[in-house]
Amino acid sequence: MSAARYRCNACGNVTRFDVVASRRTRAFHHYTIGGDLEIEEEDVLDERVEQVTCRWCNASGDKIAIEPSGVTEPADVAGAGSDSQT
Ligand SMILES: [Zn+2]
Repeated sequence: MSAARYRCNACGNVTRFDVVASRRTRAFHHYTIGGDLEIEEEDVLDERVEQVTCRWCNASGDKIAIEPSGVTEPADVAGAGSDSQT
């Protein structure tokens, strides 16, 4: 669900950022007979992050490190120690 995470190298903040991004999306616009619109199934086709600014110290640009999502997934943790299943 989560996209890339950010880390501010200036103050160590990892939780609060202003993110400016442009998105291209495809959405299913579902109208009722009465003309009311309900937007369903919105897919993000393209997302470009233009600027990330730290909310704590206002640093941006090179000060903000991007940490790709999925790095911390414990894929190889199980089975590292014992062979109790065999
Ligand atoms: Zn900061």
